[in-house]
Amino acid sequence: MKIIGVDVGGTQIKTGVVQGNLEVFHRDERPTPGTAQDIVNRVHEMVRDAWRHAPGAPVGISFAGTWDNEGCVTANQLGLKKAPVKRMLDEAFGISIPVENDAVCALMAEHRYGALKGTETGILLTLGTGIGGGVIVHGQPLRGHQGLHGELGHMITHIDGHACGCGQKGCWEQYAAARALGIMAAPMSTKELVDRVRDGHKSDVWQQYIKEVTIGIQSLMMIFMPEVIAIGGGLSNAGEIVVSSIREAVENTSAFKTYCPFTRVVPAQFRNDAGIIGAVALAEGNL
Ligand SMILES: [Zn+2]
Repeated sequence: MKIIGVDVGGTQIKTGVVQGNLEVFHRDERPTPGTAQDIVNRVHEMVRDAWRHAPGAPVGISFAGTWDNEGCVTANQLGLKKAPVKRMLDEAFGISIPVENDAVCALMAEHRYGALKGTETGILLTLGTGIGGGVIVHGQPLRGHQGLHGELGHMITHIDGHACGCGQKGCWEQYAAARALGIMAAPMSTKELVDRVRDGHKSDVWQQYIKEVTIGIQSLMMIFMPEVIAIGGGLSNAGEIVVSSIREAVENTSAFKTYCPFTRVVPAQFRNDAGIIGAVALAEGNL
């Protein structure tokens, strides 16, 4: 069966027609407009184009921002505040279209098809501009009050630390997101630094960064006792060195040695297509 996945991000909207083997066909990408109505109209227009290749295919949407269980989204990077986007999408399409936060969609993609497939308890961490991802508990994405998803990246790891866009100080993502590594590595680029580490050079900056990542993972392990931790996001494109460095550091902690010797640290399966595949996982779960 063909399913259309839509990934609405801060700067681009991407669509793809996905078949059973998870290959993405008929990709399209257009800029994300500035208002909720324009975003909805553009998504509708792009899905109508995709339907020319896959008539009547079910649609799922991965959408950046915080979603409440009324289908309203708040997304600073899109300038949306409690915008009733779910209702607007359903009106535009004339049918109910499943839509979900992008981190939850990426988590669903890994749980349904990827690195967390079959796990009862697992964690996806995406190291990018921030830290995203989520937690699978009892074989389901963990949710809070009113269906809200948690924000792993805003776990505080530094008392009175760097100010974060969320209003707190010392959030994990201020120290352990790929962006933080970019700042730490300067004037070297992240790529240069990772290349040097891969070539066997010792790097205090890399060690420090891995420590910042690991300190958060230790807490997550102690709270959730996960079978698997999958590492994704932009930084994982740098290759196995990222995951193997994190794995080695994690396996040196008491959280691992004493409490969770079963936890496996693995690469996430879906990289640039996590949004589209996540939207497909959402649509398939709704069929
Ligand atoms: Zn924060």
